Amino acid sequence: MHDSIQKNISRNLNSIRDKIQQAACKAGRRPNDIRLVAVSKFHPVESIYAAFNDKQLIFGENRIQEAKKKFAPILSEQPDIKLHIIGPIQSNKLLDAVKIADTIETVDRLSILDPLEKAIQKTGRSPTLFIQINTGREPQKAGIFPEDADHFISLCKKRFGSSIQGVMGIPPVHEDPVPHFRKLANFSRKFGLNEISMGMSNDFETAIACGATYVRVGTGIFGTRPLNPKNNSFQ
Ligand SMILES: *Cc1c(COP(=O)(O)O)cnc(C)c1O
Repeated sequence: MHDSIQKNISRNLNSIRDKIQQAACKAGRRPNDIRLVAVSKFHPVESIYAAFNDKQLIFGENRIQEAKKKFAPILSEQPDIKLHIIGPIQSNKLLDAVKIADTIETVDRLSILDPLEKAIQKTGRSPTLFIQINTGREPQKAGIFPEDADHFISLCKKRFGSSIQGVMGIPPVHEDPVPHFRKLANFSRKFGLNEISMGMSNDFETAIACGATYVRVGTGIFGTRPLNPKNNSFQ
């Protein structure tokens, strides 16, 4: 392990943990009710182990191929680590997703339900599932539209029972996230789902004030992502 990588990641991680604690206290919530998903997409295994060395156990990845390559070996070595899938999953990747995920945060469309159910039956693994809601109705973003969410959540609960434990969302980049966070919190309340995954490096404290139980932080822990060579973006 590179000393400086370990030092940087530990420092960032502890600063985010402090901020989570402060935001929780300010909102009159228990800090332990908010869990941190360390989003390690595009970052090397070395960085993941640096966070793990500092007691980070929950990680997030948004691409199945990358997640499998990095985490299959890590998970066999460190079974306490939990991987959250936080990106859209193509139907033909669901089997791989179910094999490695502790939680799939992105149950986002009707057409995913059949292959998801098959993958669960085939593997005998049953990851925790969150419903992704596209509160901003953005065409380029995954997630069920809010007007379809009631029906979709009911359907998912019927099909997957208590595996459905929460909602997840990503507010539009250039808007005040608060109304979006509130919408997500309302869906979770309405359907008795305990978990709300919302808030990233730039807005996790606001998300905590609005009820987040998971915040997903990448840049704030691991630093700026290397550019994705495929499409020259940071996503
Ligand atoms: C990349 C990503 C994050 C982390 O974003 P940062 O701004 O780096 O904290 C959180 N959630 C999802 C769904 C992501 O794809």
